[in-house]
Amino acid sequence: MKSTKNSGIKKSGILKFEELNWKQIQELDYQKTIFYLTISPLEEHGPHLPVGTDIFTARDVIFETAKILNKKKPELTYVILPPIPIGSCKFNTDFPGSISVSSKIVRDVVYSFGSSLAHHGFQFMVISTFHMAIAHLRGIYSAMNKLKNKYNMKVCEPWGPFFFSDEIKNREPKLGFDSSREIHAGFRETSLMKYQYPYLVDESYKNLQSIYRDLESPRIVGKKFKQLGLKEGYVGSPSKADADYGRWFFNEIVNVYVNATIALYENGKILKLPKNKNIIMKALFWE
Ligand SMILES: [Zn+2]
Repeated sequence: MKSTKNSGIKKSGILKFEELNWKQIQELDYQKTIFYLTISPLEEHGPHLPVGTDIFTARDVIFETAKILNKKKPELTYVILPPIPIGSCKFNTDFPGSISVSSKIVRDVVYSFGSSLAHHGFQFMVISTFHMAIAHLRGIYSAMNKLKNKYNMKVCEPWGPFFFSDEIKNREPKLGFDSSREIHAGFRETSLMKYQYPYLVDESYKNLQSIYRDLESPRIVGKKFKQLGLKEGYVGSPSKADADYGRWFFNEIVNVYVNATIALYENGKILKLPKNKNIIMKALFWE
């Protein structure tokens, strides 16, 4: 990290927001600073994965993204905000460990972070979340719209648009099964944790039976996991987990964030969720 001659004030590179004082923040180049905000809930992830699974991935991806970007675009400053462990996950609060806040709160928190920065002239923020529940995304996207309208702030959330496309399926190594049905604490996430935090994966994952549900079906709206027969709190095949896939998947996610940051900075490009997700979001009540 570079620093100025006498004051020791860091002006570029990768910075942790909470370690800076306001003078250092004031000295950042407003046009060349990208803020990263990680926001994902603490939430049950089956009997085998930690409740911080989403936040671990969302946070670690950002540090890796910043490292790569710092080499690719060293003229920019990457400021990483501390992760916010909140999100909307009402559907599995019938398990201890799931802490759900309303989508309104998600919206207000994201908006408050963004507007507090935009108020001082900062222009770019990338939101990192690995929690793809529509109510949670609704809070994030609503805050993004508000930030754009009020401050012309450029804010994007890269993972949702990628996750809901066919890109993962098209790019992933050959598996012999459909990984898009691995919705919660299944093959994909167990593989990620086996790669990132193997010591946090309970060995019982090897004996968990495959269980599938279409959580987007209108019939299940408003139902909680146990009502859907998801007694262990996962959807998918954790037993197939593989650390090599986890490494591939992690790097793929990083790649998505690297590209989205460059597109945001260079062209003000804000990725959108697919239309059908927007329709569902609009139909939801704020709660
Ligand atoms: Zn998850």
